Amino acid sequence: MEKDFMHNEVRLVLAGRWLVSIDGEVREETGISVAVAGDSIAEIGPDLAAKYPQAELLACPHGLIMPGLVNVHTHAAMSCFRGLADDLPLMDWLTQHIFPREAQLTKEIVYHATLLSICEMIKSGTTSYNDMYLFTKEAARAAADAGMRAWIGEAFFDFPSPNYGELENGFAYVEELFSAYEDSDLIKITVNPHAVYTCSPTLLQRAAALAERKNALLHIHLAETRDEVQGCAEKYGCTPARHLERLGLLNERTVAAHCVMLDDEEIALLARRGVKVAHCPESNMKLASGIAPAQKMLGGGVTIGIGTDGSASNNDLDMFGEMSTAAKLHKVRDLDPTAMSAETVLRAATLGGAEVLGAADKIGSVAVGKKADLIMLNLRQPHLCPLHNPVSQLVYAAKGSDVIHSVVNGRVVMRDRRLTTLNEAAVLAEMERIGETIRHMS
Ligand SMILES: [Zn+2]
Repeated sequence: MEKDFMHNEVRLVLAGRWLVSIDGEVREETGISVAVAGDSIAEIGPDLAAKYPQAELLACPHGLIMPGLVNVHTHAAMSCFRGLADDLPLMDWLTQHIFPREAQLTKEIVYHATLLSICEMIKSGTTSYNDMYLFTKEAARAAADAGMRAWIGEAFFDFPSPNYGELENGFAYVEELFSAYEDSDLIKITVNPHAVYTCSPTLLQRAAALAERKNALLHIHLAETRDEVQGCAEKYGCTPARHLERLGLLNERTVAAHCVMLDDEEIALLARRGVKVAHCPESNMKLASGIAPAQKMLGGGVTIGIGTDGSASNNDLDMFGEMSTAAKLHKVRDLDPTAMSAETVLRAATLGGAEVLGAADKIGSVAVGKKADLIMLNLRQPHLCPLHNPVSQLVYAAKGSDVIHSVVNGRVVMRDRRLTTLNEAAVLAEMERIGETIRHMS
């Protein structure tokens, strides 16, 4: 399994006992290893540490190597609001607690809160994420500083933004973002109309035109709650998905978050248009939005990834927890233990997520030639032993804190649970200070 690379280009080898490659098989052999040259996976095989003695070695005798998890819907900087207002309906939560505080956000808060979330994501096995928020030049700078792979977009809505003010400035701001990250390997800029209840038809169409011109993803919240569906019916005489269809926003660039309230016709429509869906079960549970028909969507040919949503409505960014919830929620809804298998969920959280983001040729599985976005878990722990089925263990028993090493784009971002690109203690100290400010916002 070798590709075009020079022997001395291999600078990193991961060696463990299990390999869950996602698009291939599950392997168990002593010294199963993955060699990394530059930003890519160069070779997969036994004992590559001996073959490439010059390479840095990340080894664990009971290590499981797998692709990094892909979080397809979050608002990273919302970690600054974690636990501030819980147990409320979505609209009350948004309009009475989140929007008033977001109106007082600053560049500094967004930068540091994004760094905080990146610390959490790396420490729980996520190597790439799809982010929608405000002050996203800061969010992008944080991701770039951390060496994370991220899709980042500035939220558009009809009311003035605390970042760019009037909408016109928002479009200029996003143009600047596109220019700044044009050549970036790690940061991709997306176009983010917030939702049908916050964006006029004109704004939605303008956003769609921009996404098309930039060949960028269009990331939007869709059919999240019953209130959204009712509001859309009253205002536009149709459901949110049909509203987007009429406006020409449903296509293969569209990433729709939530999709809780979809009927069978809409599922078929999303499949036909190639719309991708970010399934966020824990946020939907916490805000009592409902249970997205994820099984029906998968059955109907819709590509699905898993997202945490922001950590103010979750309240964490641990994709292992999210996988476990996704696998169980559909079982209890359908009273069917065969619903949403561990394998289906694990695929959605890795390669499925990569497909959602149009990056399945680069990330989402462990394969020669793909970008080296890799994690290793240490399975020598009471809750992971004995190991009968690695996929089952990953979805139902593992936790984010079981991840010991993490690599993004060929660069080690966590070694033995210590972050290498970020000063975790400094990030935490800064956020404690910012937390004080946020608690005193009126
Ligand atoms: Zn969201």
